[in-house]
Amino acid sequence: MSEPIPLQHLDAPRAEPAPPPAVEARELYKSYVGGDGSPLHVLENTDLAVQPGEVVAIIGESGSGKSTLLHLLGGLDVPTSGEVTIGGEPLGRLTEDELSRVRNEKVGFVFQFHHLLREFTAEENVMMPQLIAGKDPRKARARARELLADVGLERRLEHKPNMLSGGEQQRVAVARALANEPVVILADEPSGNLDPTTSEQLHELLFGVSDRHGSAMVIVTHDMGLAARAGRVLELESGRLVPRMPRIPG
Ligand code: ADP
Ligand code: MG
Repeated sequence: MSEPIPLQHLDAPRAEPAPPPAVEARELYKSYVGGDGSPLHVLENTDLAVQPGEVVAIIGESGSGKSTLLHLLGGLDVPTSGEVTIGGEPLGRLTEDELSRVRNEKVGFVFQFHHLLREFTAEENVMMPQLIAGKDPRKARARARELLADVGLERRLEHKPNMLSGGEQQRVAVARALANEPVVILADEPSGNLDPTTSEQLHELLFGVSDRHGSAMVIVTHDMGLAARAGRVLELESGRLVPRMPRIPG
């Protein structure tokens, strides 16, 4: 006679709890005070959930609130009401210090203008977020070199931003954004400032890194070719995000 099957083997496999979204916005409102003192409602009841590893493109007319939304998602600004969570952590409940830590360790920002530190070399710029996170300087340097090699800049380690081309500066900014293996990369018109060939290289780089590192990515762009490569395209319109089918160019 065969051995009785242990009971736990008969149990249905227990469902793993789903991981929290990489970044989520719930009922987000953002108003500014307009020039004449009347309120300017930029975001009105905006919802968004981006899953780990997902790439979402956000399009919309100039002034529609795309940068505002990205700043709120990354904890660079606070909503008028509503909530943002990063990796399940609600930003609204954090102290200023905790918020800085989340921004540094969980979010990788890439802006249209790179915001590199001018006094520091490419390598030091990529080390900086790691040192702020308390990483051992030798490890931080090794990782900076690895990342800069990933973006094709292994021979520009000692260059300061003014000794790099625009595209190279943007690649340093991408390496820096990845330094702490962020949960989410937030890119605001990252290639808006570059020629078509360099833009294309930067897009390859962004998709490649998000793929390899499993980081979620939210990209604000005017470039429909870029948007078409995202898993989802959303248009910001009258303060809300509306799903769009991208037109595949070519
Ligand atoms: P987009 O990135 O889509 O071009 P923004 O998010 O930068 O748009 O801006 C959305 C709207 O909010 C614009 O009309 C802009 O003028 C206004 N705005 C942005 N920042 C501020 C601010 N700090 N104070 C007042 N109005 C602002
Ligand atoms: Mg903008």
